[in-house]
Amino acid sequence: MDLVCSYCNTIGFSAENLGTQRNVHFGVKCCNKGKVHGSIPLLPNIPASLHHLYTSPDSLSEYFRKNIRKFNSGLCMASMVVKEETRSTRHGGIASFTIKGQIFCGIGSIQNAAGCTPKFIQTYFFDTDEQAIIRSAFLDIGNPEDNIRNHTLFQRLHEMLLNCQNTYITSFLSIHEYIQRIEVPPDNLRISIHADIRSSAEHSGRYNLPQGSEVAILMPNVVASS
Ligand SMILES: [Zn+2]
Repeated sequence: MDLVCSYCNTIGFSAENLGTQRNVHFGVKCCNKGKVHGSIPLLPNIPASLHHLYTSPDSLSEYFRKNIRKFNSGLCMASMVVKEETRSTRHGGIASFTIKGQIFCGIGSIQNAAGCTPKFIQTYFFDTDEQAIIRSAFLDIGNPEDNIRNHTLFQRLHEMLLNCQNTYITSFLSIHEYIQRIEVPPDNLRISIHADIRSSAEHSGRYNLPQGSEVAILMPNVVASS
């Protein structure tokens, strides 16, 4: 990929260029000569640690690139749920992967059932090191060297997602991780529950007693002084 669209800075292959050497564009593959400019926000630069893994010649980065799909899957929050079509294609042979109907994202319970290994979103509710252990276990094929690499990479990738303020990931910080990040001594924190206070601005149903067995506490981004 060595050419840059003159209208939207998309990078493309020289064989895809539908313009000239001086006025590069890739037609409908990018912005259609600037016609959709502005409606598609530019992607932010990737974090330095991820850029390193994508481009560095060191053995850990090479291992990451070789197994990138596994690391991508290991950090997924949901699984894809589809109805698979298993009939052969019209011209014979089995279709590689055909679906019918809608594609759903399966999230399921946010806590793993007793005795079951945590997966997808459930993994994010453990602390960072334990998350890396759980994810590495899925890739364990009995090679100790690979196990160390998997653990290191999952830890780095999770840190990277936290540091780049990925909104989905940061919303799953445990209280322990949260107070570490805002650098407030734990002794200074106190949680008060005022069950009798009702806000007139909110929907009355919001203050109904919880019916489930789980209780979540949302901590504001700004810690009050008292
Ligand atoms: Zn373009």
